[in-house]
Amino acid sequence: MEEKKASIGTKAVWAGEKDVLVHRATQVPVIVSVAYNYDDMDEWYDVSVGKKQGHIYGRNTNPTVQAFEDKVKILEGAEAATSFSTGMAAISNTLYTFLKPGDRIVSIKDTYGGTNKIFTEFLPKLNIDVALCETGNHEAIEKELEKGCKILYLETPTNPTVKITDIERMSQKGKDAGAIVVVDNTFATPINQNPLKLGADLVLHSATKFLGGHADALGGVVCGSKELIEQIYHYREINGATLDPWAAYLLLRGMKTLKLRVEQQAKNAMAIAKFLLDEDLVEEVYYPGLKTHLHYDIAKKQMKGFGGMLSFSLKGGMDAVKILLPALKYANRAANLGAVETTYGPARTTSHVECTPEERAAMGIPDGLVRISAGIEDTEDLIQDLTQAFEVLKEQTVPVGK
Ligand SMILES: *Cc1c(COP(=O)(O)O)cnc(C)c1O
Repeated sequence: MEEKKASIGTKAVWAGEKDVLVHRATQVPVIVSVAYNYDDMDEWYDVSVGKKQGHIYGRNTNPTVQAFEDKVKILEGAEAATSFSTGMAAISNTLYTFLKPGDRIVSIKDTYGGTNKIFTEFLPKLNIDVALCETGNHEAIEKELEKGCKILYLETPTNPTVKITDIERMSQKGKDAGAIVVVDNTFATPINQNPLKLGADLVLHSATKFLGGHADALGGVVCGSKELIEQIYHYREINGATLDPWAAYLLLRGMKTLKLRVEQQAKNAMAIAKFLLDEDLVEEVYYPGLKTHLHYDIAKKQMKGFGGMLSFSLKGGMDAVKILLPALKYANRAANLGAVETTYGPARTTSHVECTPEERAAMGIPDGLVRISAGIEDTEDLIQDLTQAFEVLKEQTVPVGK
């Protein structure tokens, strides 16, 4: 394919679409047909058993969905990809494809809240041993790997305190231990980070977030070798968490502007991080692009850009959050991220709503922590907006007459 040689922004626009275009249309069609018509019984059979390319039934494959999978596959530099109805379906289906009772999985404490629930609630029920290490403590992960491991599951940067794990180092150690290394690349996007090139076996995304980018479609995707993806595809085909063709179309359309969006989001995130660092009422700012970040060096080494996600805590805790967030004009206060609109949300109602306050505290997530997903607005407007919102906060926190 031509675009294989192109740069990633060009691939985001063109890759994966050619095979599904019809009637000289320049845009991918949404093919909603549940089944496909064969008047040649032998051809039908050949497609059914995979001897010939084609589509049989919508739970298995669909041309629009396939174009989406192909685009992500090319952006991640993978051999194969398969998609899902949501990011959580991509994660759970991947884990359940390879894990069986008696197996062991090693991961980190602050994976996405839903992923953490799989580790703490569902896998133990199947007698799967889960070892969750302090995020960013590479030695702790290495120690757990030495005890044996079927899957090493990483997420970097993490949600919501944007902690970083060294993918190259951990992939090598994971492979030495005989593990399949899986990386949730949702926060970084393929524009900023390609885990497969750093040695991981599988990379997955909640496409709902940055890939789609417009907060109007749910989806998930996992990329890797043909051998691994075929097994995950088989699990999904039977268990049924299929991506809808309409959603696939919206995600595909969103992905055309992925590079432009991610670049502007990173620019805005850096400006917001710097603004917050200088703000008296802010206790802590978390952004991997700040030199003060614990793993700035690793982030700089493995990421092409630092991404659009950051978080901060306010000195006044949740009471201050309750004043600051409603005062913002250019912000959705919502349980979402990766959209074109800047989105603010406290961790306790967004990424870690599934967890108890005690569980969140154990993960190092203060009750008043606010996650920001920088949008694509003009930087100066976002800074102006924060400035006026902090004015409101100051007016309400300093007693009158003081
Ligand atoms: C949102 C998210 C998920 C889950 O994706 P859904 O599409 O909501 O199921 C998984 N991992 C990360 C890092 C996320 O942000």
